Amino acid sequence: MLDPYNRDIYYLRISVTDRCNLRCTYCMPEEGVTLKSHHDILSYEEIEEIVRVAVKLGFYKFRLTGGEPLIRKGILDLVRTLANIEGIETLAMTTNGLLLPKYATELKAVGLSRLNISLDSLRADRYRQISRGGDLTLALAGIQAAREAGFEKTKLNAVLVDGFNDDEKENLKKFAAENNMQARFIKKMDLKSGDYYQVEGGAGGNCSICNRIRLTADGKMRSCLFSDCEFDIRKEGIEEAFRKAIGNKPQKGHKSLKREMIQIGG
Ligand code: SAM
Ligand code: SF4
Repeated sequence: MLDPYNRDIYYLRISVTDRCNLRCTYCMPEEGVTLKSHHDILSYEEIEEIVRVAVKLGFYKFRLTGGEPLIRKGILDLVRTLANIEGIETLAMTTNGLLLPKYATELKAVGLSRLNISLDSLRADRYRQISRGGDLTLALAGIQAAREAGFEKTKLNAVLVDGFNDDEKENLKKFAAENNMQARFIKKMDLKSGDYYQVEGGAGGNCSICNRIRLTADGKMRSCLFSDCEFDIRKEGIEEAFRKAIGNKPQKGHKSLKREMIQIGG
């Protein structure tokens, strides 16, 4: 579907949970966020229906995100169901990778197209600090598992924080190349002050070629990462929520005050 600025919107990012097994400093505040109740979170049946409507409206690229998508119970069933929907060209996932040793082989088997794995540092102390307690060896094991499962064109997403890990850019690039991954660097963004940047090595952040909208885990269709404009799937109805989210897409985002990154999915 075309938005008011003639951009073709065909990519839907779906957050399947607002929970996570890490607590990255740039993604959520120290005190955490108020979690939605089970009742508020979209069921897999609802997500499937939304994706079917999306395909009908011309969407063909989908990404599962979170929170951490791999901690939601039954995630393999959702991937299997969505992968079987005709008309989907790409069904990808963005993950911190910690649970890939458990899931990578099956994710591949049930039809996931591609993975983006987030890794901001190759130094255990920094990784622990930026993720508030994460274990680097688990993330590295996840990357290894993705390779062994046969995933190709895996992307490594690194958030660069000035003066903290920006000196690791070359090392991360080298690590990515050695592991057959493509490195993408994202400068730490701030939803509330409206600091956003173009993704180095990806299309994100370039408003003139924006192709996406976002679905939150609690069923709100968001027009833009950097805008609070969102439409409730359950109140509006699925197709109407799509039409409104696309019809109200700003030319350029400014800020988003109502949600943290973990509640949108990046
Ligand atoms: N938990 C999964 C992960 O970390 O890959 C998926 C959800 S996470 C919100 C999606 C992406 O958003 C990650 O690559 C993460 O690094 C990125 N992200 C989170 N907060 C960010 C921020 N403030 N600026 C830039 N990227 C951010
Ligand atoms: Fe969790 Fe991903 Fe946010 Fe880190 S970036 S807290 S892993 S959702």
